Amino acid sequence: MSNQAVLEWMERVVKPEQIEKYLEQGKDFVDEELIRQSLNTAINPEKSLLRDIMSKSLDLQRLDPDETAALLNCTDEEIWEEMYQTGYQIKEKVYGRRIVTFAPLYVSNHCVNSCVYCGFRKDNTETMRKQLSLEELGKEVESLVQKGHKRLIMVYGEHPDSDVHYIADTLTKAYQTKVGHGEIRRVNVNAAPMSIEDLEILRDIGIGTFQVFQETYHHDTYRRLHPRGIKANYLWRLYALHRAMDAGVDDVGIGALFGLYDWKFEVMGLLLHTIDLEKRFNGVGPHTISFPRIEPALNTPFTRHSPYLVDDATFKKLVTVIRLSVPYTGMILTARERPEVRNEVIKTGCTQIDAGSNIGVGSYQEETMNYDRQQFILGDNRSLDEAIRDMAKMGFITSFCTADYRCGRTGECFMGIAKSGKIHNLCMPNAILTFKEYLLDYASEATKDAASYLINQELAALPNPAIQDKVKGMLVRIEAGERDLFL
Ligand code: SAM
Ligand code: SF4
Repeated sequence: MSNQAVLEWMERVVKPEQIEKYLEQGKDFVDEELIRQSLNTAINPEKSLLRDIMSKSLDLQRLDPDETAALLNCTDEEIWEEMYQTGYQIKEKVYGRRIVTFAPLYVSNHCVNSCVYCGFRKDNTETMRKQLSLEELGKEVESLVQKGHKRLIMVYGEHPDSDVHYIADTLTKAYQTKVGHGEIRRVNVNAAPMSIEDLEILRDIGIGTFQVFQETYHHDTYRRLHPRGIKANYLWRLYALHRAMDAGVDDVGIGALFGLYDWKFEVMGLLLHTIDLEKRFNGVGPHTISFPRIEPALNTPFTRHSPYLVDDATFKKLVTVIRLSVPYTGMILTARERPEVRNEVIKTGCTQIDAGSNIGVGSYQEETMNYDRQQFILGDNRSLDEAIRDMAKMGFITSFCTADYRCGRTGECFMGIAKSGKIHNLCMPNAILTFKEYLLDYASEATKDAASYLINQELAALPNPAIQDKVKGMLVRIEAGERDLFL
């Protein structure tokens, strides 16, 4: 495609009327004055106040900005320990001892934007550009299915060659690819913001969650770090998920890239984003919240020199405050983090991880890392099997369940179940069933030895005896060769 054609395409992407309709008196919902005021007022919060806020979270109520600010400003390590415990309890109450697992699949790294922290930025001449053909994509998916994956997040740079039609074709191909018993049953997407019309195309194909991270909610910082390209438009990005909800894609994922600006500000931004989505879409906020930290990337010095890089101890704190602030929402802890950090932070209430990840475009089938095709460098290179074994040793059952999405339990329906803490009767049985499939079809002997106990343990812990009996019957059918059984 000629440079001129690319520029013309870029001119057409942003639809101003699909921003303006969401503004209130010309303003967006990231009220920087309110954030500053909340953070400045809640200095040195009393222990009793912090404990009251923790009880509210344990009751599965979303916190208000002042309450979140108080948690963020806590300086008492003893209270932080209580917050970590509370995060774990909330997660167990809503989601059980279950971790949903997926693989990232990078499909194209061509990009028209210039995000200073990203290895894929347009002006990074050291990155090798690659866009998968449908045939290559099929091979990538086969490699993942053969390892036992059932859920993907497909990731794309922003470019006319990987526009919504290419995304739609690649989603369809991923769903069609089968290997023996195995197949991908849910495909989430992380891609650039789109118009409502484009999102409707993805809705019709059966997209799972649509993720767009705001990166930083701080307007000035956003402007500096996204100097050119479509992504320079803060508001087009800020309302990407409002448009998705309006298009009927009702599982959406928000996120902030920690290390670009003050971490407390970003947690407040994520909360305000949640509140605005809930306000406009009948109480349905984000399906998931992501909190990636900046990782080193090829020829990208900013990733090492940003003044706002977040250390491991602070990272654990910010994840905990997100857990407490939005108790019923899924939280994704990615393989950007080293295994020891993940094993520690997951206990504060995360619900999803990626595992066995390789983010070089086309690299699963080649079984190499291809660092020159990566957006950044991963911290956790464990295989899926190893990660599952480690999770099992910590008492977590890995779930490959995709039933909610396939039974239409998305958006408002899913939130209703999550907020009332009633997930246990559906999601834990499905976790047990999909974990059984994994152990039979893909697990190493070491993982079978370390993890099989979880099936009986979680079966015995199911609160409803009728459901327990039903699951026992289904486990027998899985042993006999049936697959894809779910409630
Ligand atoms: N191009 C699309 C976009 O920007 O929305 C797709 C997303 S990008 C391929 C996935 C996410 O990776 C970004 O939203 C950003 O938060 C994160 N990311 C970018 N550079 C990173 C880095 N150096 N370290 C960690 N995460 C990074
Ligand atoms: Fe492109 Fe996304 Fe990377 Fe920005 S973060 S350069 S938009 S791939």
